[in-house]
Amino acid sequence: PDADPLVIEGLAKTYRGGFSAVKGVTFRVRSGQVLGLLGPNGAGKTTVLRMLMGLIRPTAGTITAFGQPVGPGAPVLARIGAFVEGPGFLPHLSGADNLRLYWAATGRPATEAHLDEALEIAGLGPSVQRRVGTYSQGMRQRLAIAQAMLGLPDMLVLDEPTNGLDPPQIHAMREVLRRYAAGGRTVLVSSHLLAEVEQTCDHVVVMHHGRVVADGSVEDIIAGGGAATFTVDAP
Ligand code: ATP
Repeated sequence: PDADPLVIEGLAKTYRGGFSAVKGVTFRVRSGQVLGLLGPNGAGKTTVLRMLMGLIRPTAGTITAFGQPVGPGAPVLARIGAFVEGPGFLPHLSGADNLRLYWAATGRPATEAHLDEALEIAGLGPSVQRRVGTYSQGMRQRLAIAQAMLGLPDMLVLDEPTNGLDPPQIHAMREVLRRYAAGGRTVLVSSHLLAEVEQTCDHVVVMHHGRVVADGSVEDIIAGGGAATFTVDAP
């Protein structure tokens, strides 16, 4: 069997200027899990995800995905689909054409069947033929998720995918992520809302001030009570 999709050990990041955004983070994501990385704004979630995607280098620690080291340009990144920096779409092109353009730019092997699969899971329906300029925020988010899902990577990494969505859209997003993981794939998703993570995820890692302050099942985290602090912190 495959190694765990993700093992993070002692990960730290001090930005130029001396600010330590991540101060020794250790956690693991198991195959088929939907893991929520929960914490208030500024907790360091995005910094962890950017290191995971090889966008910035850690100051210390290691990241291992499927048994292989992760860093800028690491081959194993091909097994991970990510939506970390909100992707810019071209408003005059359709959703489908934006995704086609994205493949062409990344050179990732993908086919029309891959496109159909990703769009189907993301639940965009016929609106995928419409210009992105006409999309609601929720549809843009779905398109971004579909982009991250192209080729059905073994692990999906999403930074606050429900940001700016209303409750029905958040519910729909949850269904999208559950459907993705139901195929035996793994999802790592960040959020600053306990309620959201509670309903979407099997397992939760809570970050605060650059550290992991809780790690457990959704039930454990809620029973522990500590996580309630974070919803208070969130805007
Ligand atoms: P958010 O939900 O706001 O993205 P987060 O938990 O993802 O929160 P990060 O974006 O990782 O948090 O930021 C953690 C801290 O690091 C914040 O205080 C932020 O101001 C700081 N930070 C982020 N990027 C840089 C940078 N390039 N240089 C210096 N400090 C940074």
